[in-house]
Amino acid sequence: MVNNTNYLSVSDLSKHFGDFTALNNISLDIKQGEFICFLGPSGCGKTTLLRAIAGLELPSEGRIIQAQRDITLLPPEQRDFGIVFQSYALFPNLTVADNIAFGLTNQGIKKAQAMEKVREWLELVDLPNSEHKFPAQLSGGQQQRVALARALALSPGLLLLDEPLSALDAKVRAHLRHEICQLQKKLGITTIMVTHDQEEALTMADRIVVMNHGVVEQVGSPREIYQHPASEFVADFVGTMNFLEAKNEQSNLLSIDDYRFSSPTDISTAHVKVAVRPEQMRIHSDPIAGIQAQIKMFEFLGSFVRVECQLAVNNQLVQVDVTSDQLDELGLKIGDYCTLSWRSEDSLVFEGQAA
Ligand code: ATP
Repeated sequence: MVNNTNYLSVSDLSKHFGDFTALNNISLDIKQGEFICFLGPSGCGKTTLLRAIAGLELPSEGRIIQAQRDITLLPPEQRDFGIVFQSYALFPNLTVADNIAFGLTNQGIKKAQAMEKVREWLELVDLPNSEHKFPAQLSGGQQQRVALARALALSPGLLLLDEPLSALDAKVRAHLRHEICQLQKKLGITTIMVTHDQEEALTMADRIVVMNHGVVEQVGSPREIYQHPASEFVADFVGTMNFLEAKNEQSNLLSIDDYRFSSPTDISTAHVKVAVRPEQMRIHSDPIAGIQAQIKMFEFLGSFVRVECQLAVNNQLVQVDVTSDQLDELGLKIGDYCTLSWRSEDSLVFEGQAA
């Protein structure tokens, strides 16, 4: 259960590698029990931030406070976290039980007591009766469960997950995603997961930290990030988005070719980008007010069909999502002409993107 106490605070954190700035003045508060995802493209700095929190990388500037303790410069072994890596990183020559018990026995806990804990953790990660196996005898998903049990065995205050699901195939990944979430909620452990997979972040996180080029672009719940992206980068990176270049005719009346429509927000520049999600785009077979387009392709995606349309005005491709029933009603085929429109309140406008 998330409560309102700040558990981890990162303040004005920067990390330079020579002339290169990997993290640029990052500030972030994480609440007790929250599941946070650091999301962003390759090289945006998410792993460096996680490593700074773990003490595997020392920041150049700034502070990290965990449970009221300044941990900024502490070595990893003096911090209170468990970590799981993409590569499992189990000891191949130790059994599952010994892998999980490793930290416990190192802390002086008696073997019998450690084995009792090992059995409890194996139950919790749904791998009972596996204690005598070796890592090589387990599937990737099972090895990652052992790595999770090992990270949690010492009951740390913070769980760090560095792309823990990336090496697994899609089905195992989806299953483990769900199990990690359930376990995290059950234990109430504050968790930070690094991922470049937006679907993973949207389905797992209480809040997502979207990063780009070493800065935080936006922090918000999955819904806030998806429905109210704070920047063009976030709008583009999370989910699918159509960006249409438009002119500001007068007092927030925009135009694309002959189509006039209103901006959902006040704008001051002459040219803008209008962003509309495929599911908010409307497609009509009748020539009503809208943008003229031609249907190029249908992509059947199970619960909906993605229609790819090419705008007559500039040949830009635009994605529109409809249900199969809607498509049947419209009676549109590849090569047909159609009209696209959207409700002003379903669009976003980004300024300063001059055409
Ligand atoms: P990925 O998803 O590819 O792991 P990331 O967002 O986790 O990307 P980081 O690993 O945090 O990115 O790296 C951020 C930037 O810092 C990258 O440009 C990387 O090359 C650089 N970097 C990371 N570690 C070092 C290092 N030890 N020395 C020099 N540059 C580094």
